[in-house]
Amino acid sequence: MTQQQWVGRYQNAVMNTFGAPRLVLERGEGAWVWDVDGRRYLDLLAGIAVNSLGHGHPALVKAVSEQVATLAHVSNFFTTVPQVRLAERLLELLGASGVGDGGRPGSRPGSRVFFSNSGAEANEAALKLTRRTGRTGLVAAAGAFHGRTMGALSLTANAAYREPFEPLPGDVRFVPYGDADALEAAVDDTTAAVVLEPLQGEAGARVAPDGYLQAARAATSGCGALLWLDEVQCGMGRTGDWFAHTASGVAPDLVTLAKGLGGGIPIGATVALGEAGSLLRPGSHGTTFGGNPVATSAALAVIDAIEAGDLLANATSVGQRLSDGLAAHPLVREVTGRGLLLGVGLTADVGPQAYEAALAAGVIVNCCAPDRLRLAPPLVLTREQADHAVELLLRVLDEVTP
Ligand code: PMP
Repeated sequence: MTQQQWVGRYQNAVMNTFGAPRLVLERGEGAWVWDVDGRRYLDLLAGIAVNSLGHGHPALVKAVSEQVATLAHVSNFFTTVPQVRLAERLLELLGASGVGDGGRPGSRPGSRVFFSNSGAEANEAALKLTRRTGRTGLVAAAGAFHGRTMGALSLTANAAYREPFEPLPGDVRFVPYGDADALEAAVDDTTAAVVLEPLQGEAGARVAPDGYLQAARAATSGCGALLWLDEVQCGMGRTGDWFAHTASGVAPDLVTLAKGLGGGIPIGATVALGEAGSLLRPGSHGTTFGGNPVATSAALAVIDAIEAGDLLANATSVGQRLSDGLAAHPLVREVTGRGLLLGVGLTADVGPQAYEAALAAGVIVNCCAPDRLRLAPPLVLTREQADHAVELLLRVLDEVTP
């Protein structure tokens, strides 16, 4: 059965929400994947910022295999050791809690985690949590992407995604991303929360300007509103820090996570810091699979492997290599982002052409706008692989015609 035949079968059986798939992938190893025709690709997208350890990482395979053989699922009437350990680990990474809750200076007593299965669900839980403040107003940013469920969609700015599904829930105001004055002006004592991506992923890896998150913190604190940071795409080590907001020093009230958290196993987490941790009460929210032991074991393995492999430092140095290498091409106007979440702004609308040429050259990238490529490779990408990717992509850019 050829790749083309599989695509035909896909189209006859799978709902057409994504268009025709470009490849039928069969297996992967590290930063490489192979299609069903046996062709190999350097994967600079990692399932859109998901496969942080690359493909087939032994620690992830071991954790998931052992857990699925031991206990694959329990209901939320019960808990499991990996679920508890992961919640504690995430709170620690966010500087929220040491053992004993509040035992360390700077910790945030009362912080708690809600587990789900995806980014949209993590945001959906956060959205419900904001309603428990007694306020309904929300402020979100233009260019933002928070997911496709009705609640998450209400916070997603893109008109093409929203309009066919209106009326959407919510009382949402959109402000230009990065404009601290506009944000401040939009926040008042009806605002339940401001939701921001510290680094906008779907918009093509656009970083919040210096001081923006601090301004958002000041505006929300001043009005008693929550500051909610969506780290679904940019969190869990992708930017070279555990979280994209870490370097800002800002302490948010809510952080949502998914994608890279499970390294390929579906999991989402809504982390409520400090007092926000008690807003959802028994009966407020729930999900059958959230906190599943296989998914939480996977996430623990991912966190351990990032630490053991010094992958935060790797994301920074290898990301810089990619960025410097690509910036040298005359068709490249700018390289944005941080660590291994990069946007490559092009001087002309050659993105789709470059995407196709890259695939033909054996490199997977994402074309997120006609004049923009996005790279989100596995955090295990090596220097040599980055240099190889740059060499191939520079050649690809030579081939495209503006
Ligand atoms: N938030 C952000 C910042 C995202 O990038 C995404 C996915 N692109 C989501 C939320 C939604 O995540 P999911 O597709 O897992 O529902």
